[in-house]
Amino acid sequence: MAGEPQADCLFCKIVAKEVPATIVQETDTTVAFRDINPQAPTHVLVIPKAHYPDAASLAAAEPGIAADILREARAVAVMDDIVDKGYRVVFNTGTGAGQTVFHAHAHVLGGRGLNWPPG
Ligand code: IMP
Repeated sequence: MAGEPQADCLFCKIVAKEVPATIVQETDTTVAFRDINPQAPTHVLVIPKAHYPDAASLAAAEPGIAADILREARAVAVMDDIVDKGYRVVFNTGTGAGQTVFHAHAHVLGGRGLNWPPG
């Protein structure tokens, strides 16, 4: 069923605490944890507890939870004190865009200058 945990999904396992992660925030609908391979001083992933393969499918099925992800992304930026300097929220969508984990997630990046366009 849509949104149900998937046995072979790494991020579902992080939600279930079966795989360790440095969790920085958790709500009823979301978990935020530090990326294992950080690309900036702040690099946090904000994910829905429900399993959807990407941000678009999450937004279509659960727009309220998609909004929760954006709210929690800002909360991470507040927590890491990077709001004033600016931060970036990225949803890689599809293999060609660099998506490697097919459980919706927002990357929250900041704490250094960020170039545009991204590579
Ligand atoms: P994607 O490439 O946009 O799908 O992002 C997946 C992210 O998950 C990458 O930045 C990885 O470094 C990160 N990642 C993979 N495994 C783990 C883990 O076990 N803990 C935390 N982050 C992870």
